[in-house]
Amino acid sequence: MPGPRRTLIAGNWKMNGLKAQVPEFSAMAAGYDATLQAKADMLICPPATLLARLADIAAVTGVMVGGQDCHALASGAHTGDISAEMLKDAGASAVILGHSERRADHREGDAVVEAKVKAAWRTGLLPVVCVGETLAEREAGEAANLVRRQVRQSVPDGATADTLVIAYEPIWAIGTGLIPSPEDVAEVHATVRKVLVERFGAEGNGIRILYGGSVKPDNAALLLSIPDVDGALVGGASLKAADFLAIARAAP
Ligand code: PEP
Repeated sequence: MPGPRRTLIAGNWKMNGLKAQVPEFSAMAAGYDATLQAKADMLICPPATLLARLADIAAVTGVMVGGQDCHALASGAHTGDISAEMLKDAGASAVILGHSERRADHREGDAVVEAKVKAAWRTGLLPVVCVGETLAEREAGEAANLVRRQVRQSVPDGATADTLVIAYEPIWAIGTGLIPSPEDVAEVHATVRKVLVERFGAEGNGIRILYGGSVKPDNAALLLSIPDVDGALVGGASLKAADFLAIARAAP
C-alpha cells in the first residue's frame, strides 16, 4: 500500500544551459534546505551536457537530477541518442519522457514513449511521463479523452507509486503564460487518477500527477492546492534559482 503522495517540484531546462548556468543550479541546491526537504522532492532535468556536472553537486544536497529523454535501447548505432543506462551512469535518477516537444519535434507516439518507460525501469530511473492536449483538442472538448488515451497507451503494465510520475501539461499552456482554470486542471487530474487506479489499483492512488504549463511563483500556490495536483513540472521558471525555489516553497 503506497504512503501519502509527496510533492515533487521538477524543472525542465530544455535546450538551455551552458557551464555558466552551473552556479544557478548550485544556488537551487543550497536553497533546498531542511524546511523545503520536509515538504517536497526536487528534481532538475538539465541538458545532457550538464548532467554529470550537476549530479556531482546534487549528490551532497538531496536534489535529484534527470534526463529529458532517452532511447529505448541500451546502446547501439543511434547517432545523437542517449540511453537510460547512460543517464544513470551520469548520475540521473529520473527522466522526462513523452514531453510534447518530443512528441511534436520527433514525432514520438504513445508506443515509442511506452518503450522508453520500459528502458527507464530497466535501469531504475523514475520516468516522468508527459501528457496533454493541444488548444484545438481542448476546444473540441477532447482534452479528457486524449489524456486518458495517452495515459493508457504511454504507460506499460506494472507501474507503481515508486516507479511512475505523470505530468499533465496542456500544450497551449507551455511557455505562453496561459494556464487552465483550477476546475479544468482538477478535472483532467481526476481523469488521470481514475485511469491509474483502474489500471494499477492501490498503487495508482500513490502515483504522483504533476501539473505543467506556465507555472510561476505567482500562480504556484493556487495550482499546487488543486486536488490531485501532486507537484509541478516547470520549464522557463526553473532556469532561475529564485523563481524555482519560490515555486517549491509554495507547496502546501
Ligand atoms: C514544459 O515545457 O515542461 C513547461 C512546463 O514549460 P513552461 O513552464 O515554460 O510553460
